[in-house]
Amino acid sequence: MKQKRMADYAYHYGLKVRIYPSQRQKEIIKHNADATRFVYNEHVAVNKEIAQFGKRNICIDFIEKRIKILRERIRTVTALKDRYPWLRHPDIDAQSIANARQNYQRAWKQFRTVHLVGVPNFHKKTSVESYQTNPHYNNDMKISLFTSNARFLDIHHLMLPKLKRIRFQSSRKVLERLFAMKEVRIGTITITKDSLNRYFASFQLGSDEPFVGACPKTDAEIGVDLNIENFYADSNGEIVDNPCYYRRQKRRLANAQRKLSRRIVRAKKEHRPLREAKNVEKQRLLVAKLTAKVMQRRKDFLHRTSATLIKNHDLVAAEELRSKNMMKNHALAMSIQDNGWRIFLNLLTYKATLYGRKFVAVDPRNTTQTCHVCGHVMSGKGKLTLKDREWTCPNCGMHHLRDINAAKNILARAKQKLALTQ
Ligand SMILES: [Zn+2]
Repeated sequence: MKQKRMADYAYHYGLKVRIYPSQRQKEIIKHNADATRFVYNEHVAVNKEIAQFGKRNICIDFIEKRIKILRERIRTVTALKDRYPWLRHPDIDAQSIANARQNYQRAWKQFRTVHLVGVPNFHKKTSVESYQTNPHYNNDMKISLFTSNARFLDIHHLMLPKLKRIRFQSSRKVLERLFAMKEVRIGTITITKDSLNRYFASFQLGSDEPFVGACPKTDAEIGVDLNIENFYADSNGEIVDNPCYYRRQKRRLANAQRKLSRRIVRAKKEHRPLREAKNVEKQRLLVAKLTAKVMQRRKDFLHRTSATLIKNHDLVAAEELRSKNMMKNHALAMSIQDNGWRIFLNLLTYKATLYGRKFVAVDPRNTTQTCHVCGHVMSGKGKLTLKDREWTCPNCGMHHLRDINAAKNILARAKQKLALTQ
């Protein structure tokens, strides 16, 4: 029997645990993160050079030869290792290199499908480290959390490729539930060190058993309209605001960042190496702490809101992400908001499968301009602008709150879409 791959499983789950590496394990993690970044950047460099030739629009022999050499350099992992023998160092996980190559391909795919993402560019060296590895399941091996070369030893210890035995911390309740499941496969594992020097391992898990029990049916449906003035308005007439602490925190963060750049400038002027400038290092850590806090709060908010929507409704409808072209004219504030939306929509998709709910994304075209009662579409001079928060339908005389009317249209469109596919 052929072994199942991650995509063959009906349910997927992400588990992130804090790990506590020893000094030696920290070295191995750094080594792998460096190799990953190096391989990724090598792909970027090669393709940048090839792209340059393309621009000149001439195809003499020399250039053709050069392109062939360049392509050859990144064609296989072996070719890379021949050119850079240090990649064969025993600390380095072959999977981390393979994953770096895959991530480069993925970055191109992202560029083609998602707006606001540029072409793949060099990964700069920062205080953050990250690499990915995959467990190896032999053909005759039982698939579980406890069998491959990446496995759980007990509720406090993991075995990971290259790193070997490592201590970890996670919720006991979650682990007990996972450990009791019949067949769980471990997919990609991402090892990271964040800017606060904390280490984590994130596991992609797959199973044919649901990871959490399906929620009881609610017989409730909801449509949400994501917009700039608030976080979203729903078809039941509720408005959920953007968390205000988020803005407050961002202001504090901006101030701290300004102070940091001032200190860097001063240190450079006085020819002090940055690494030894204590006040720069202190401020850098403060900025990192604040950033982590802002991101954590944002993430908590998105998790909480998406979970409430999914748990309390059988069907949740929202708009699809806008295409590249439609985003062109929007201001920066919008693009920041948009990034939150992308995470939010991904969370809705993920949680809907997790809890056995339906999440449908629809084309948002004209959802704002259409009267949900009679279907009249505002156009030409009558078209609503961002300033019109309330309006009255000239056809049926119904008074509307703009965003809530849009949310109702989104829900109706989702139900239509579902009816067509069933
Ligand atoms: Zn109407």
